[in-house]
Amino acid sequence: MLTEKVSSNESSANSAQSQRCVIIGAGPAGLTAAHELLEHGRSAVVLEADHQVGGISRTVEYKGFRFDIGGHRFFSKVKMVRDWWDRMMPDDFLVRPRLSRIFYDDKFFDYPLKPLNALRSLGLLEAARIGISFVTIKLFPYQEENSFEQWVSNRFGRRLYEIFFKTYTEKVWGMPCSEIGADWAAQRIKNLDLMTLVRTAFLGNQMSDGKIVTTLIEEFNYPRLGPGMMWERVREVIEDRGCPVEFGNRVERITHSGGRVRSVTARTDEGLREVVGTHFISSMPIRDLFESLDPPPTEEALQASRDLRYRDFLTVGLILDCSDPFPDNWIYIHSDSVRVGRIQNFKAWSPEMVPDLSKSCIGLEYFVQEDDELWRMADKELIALGTRETAALGLIRAEDVIDGVVIRMPKAYPVYDRDYQNRLEIIRTYLKDLPNLQLVGRNGQHRYNNQDHSMVTAIYAARNITGSSYDVWSVNVEEEYLEEASDREASGRSGDRQIPQRLEEGRAARALRDAFARYDAMALGFALAIPAALGLFAATAILLIKGGPAVGANLSLLSNYIAGFRVSWTGAFIGMLEVGVLGFCFGWTMARLINAMVGWQERALIRRLERRLTLEALDKEVV
Ligand SMILES: Cc1cc2nc3c(=O)[nH]c(=O)nc-3n(C[C@H](O)[C@H](O)[C@H](O)COP(=O)(O)OP(=O)(O)OC[C@H]3O[C@@H](n4cnc5c(N)ncnc54)[C@H](O)[C@@H]3O)c2cc1C
Repeated sequence: MLTEKVSSNESSANSAQSQRCVIIGAGPAGLTAAHELLEHGRSAVVLEADHQVGGISRTVEYKGFRFDIGGHRFFSKVKMVRDWWDRMMPDDFLVRPRLSRIFYDDKFFDYPLKPLNALRSLGLLEAARIGISFVTIKLFPYQEENSFEQWVSNRFGRRLYEIFFKTYTEKVWGMPCSEIGADWAAQRIKNLDLMTLVRTAFLGNQMSDGKIVTTLIEEFNYPRLGPGMMWERVREVIEDRGCPVEFGNRVERITHSGGRVRSVTARTDEGLREVVGTHFISSMPIRDLFESLDPPPTEEALQASRDLRYRDFLTVGLILDCSDPFPDNWIYIHSDSVRVGRIQNFKAWSPEMVPDLSKSCIGLEYFVQEDDELWRMADKELIALGTRETAALGLIRAEDVIDGVVIRMPKAYPVYDRDYQNRLEIIRTYLKDLPNLQLVGRNGQHRYNNQDHSMVTAIYAARNITGSSYDVWSVNVEEEYLEEASDREASGRSGDRQIPQRLEEGRAARALRDAFARYDAMALGFALAIPAALGLFAATAILLIKGGPAVGANLSLLSNYIAGFRVSWTGAFIGMLEVGVLGFCFGWTMARLINAMVGWQERALIRRLERRLTLEALDKEVV
């Protein structure tokens, strides 16, 4: 086994020149970390398992046609990242108009949803069903919001949830929406609900302060040769400055002792290779990282990493002998008659994605599990399946397909199931004892990061090596859409967010729950029923026991309201039952009505607080 030392003089490891950072992965995070270290005069080496840079943000070229893993927009509210991209590629960004629609029930729906367009496509009857189901859920919401299903239904009504959320989400995640944690919905959809959607659609992109916002909803930046162009450029820059990107180096062992990582061992075509360093930055999936630790981590940490779940992804790229199959950049396929989840039209992203303008190339996205039936299907069969499905949807003609390619991407999505946060806590606690190992990026942190967030984690990690103390775990997917970034940008911490936020979210949720306390309908029902029923029975019984010529003349008047009630022992029992039932119904109904009103108030408050986030939230479809 070949061992490479960090420097000839380990004892001088404190001087910047003698330190070398070993970076695992040449995706956006790994390459950005290397770039940032070089900016600070440090040395680094990047080890990449694959033979191409870009990771999930790569562009795959096949016979001159280019395919993304998904279709990668370059957008960020983090100014530092936008400036970085512009510096790296001053002339190669295109500003593209966006068109994306939902295909459901053989009809197209604009996405983001527009009420008039949706109404036209759904028809009046379906629209009425949606309206009724929305009113119903507002009156009788799910009391618990643990699952994606409950969370979305409470905001959009069951019917709309079934049409626009359920099928696609289940395709993406491969599990029922009732098993997907509500925090994923809360993070992706924020406090958007049907009324806000309708209001936003009618009022346009107008914020409460009257500002019209041109958002990512209408246009986005895109390198003219796809995202891979950006990451190839970064590779050139860092290699020119002395940082090698070593392909075909899959890190399989991470050796540590005395509370520090000492080296990593990579499998290459030539055998195993040990690379020694002083600092280590990893963007490889956490599960693989923990399997590689030598000596192994605690049983608890290892198990936590093994329990992290992923969703895998494959693209069937079709080359079409047709210049323009449809105008959309991408189409969400909500029909459950086909397995394809989304279709990209790469020529609509950039005309330079095709070598011949009389042709086009589309990417059919299948959300899969590694080793499931689709994942293992032969490429030829997948291309045939993709052709059949797209033709059946009426989006292309099967005879226009002249070639195809299949691209498989394992671990494309870190899964946010109900326990992933707890597992990450355990993992992070363990890692505190290895301070020279930092985890960055999407799978590196098991976080639903876009490129920009992955980059910010990497920049923070690199700066930590040069003496700063950033919290790499503070960078989160959503923050830059939540706040004006200017203040935090000034402090160099733009786009960061303190997460995991379980504690804070817990407090906020508790504060809201306390402020908007709800009645327990059953309890109020019984609270009214029992005293009323017993009271009537006791009053009647006292009169009967007292006896006399005109027993309970006044109380007998109640028989006008309570059928069957008499001042007799039988009447007392009948009256007790009847008053009990009436009292229960009254209490239960009152509680539900009051709860509904309190719920309206609470949601109105949240909506007011988060109104300014709504436009950005509209843009948070699944990527
Ligand atoms: C379908 C889809 C669409 C998306 N669309 C967008 C979008 O529009 N805009 C956007 O900004 N983001 C988008 N993203 C997110 C974006 O792809 C990621 O945020 C980004 O690629 C993460 O970068 P990374 O470097 O953290 O990880 P990755 O891209 O996963 O890169 C990690 C690298 O590490 C390598 N590696 C793994 N294990 C090892 C090992 N053991 N040894 C050595 N190397 C290893 C991998 O081969 C890979 O090259 C999308 C993601 C998906 C799945």
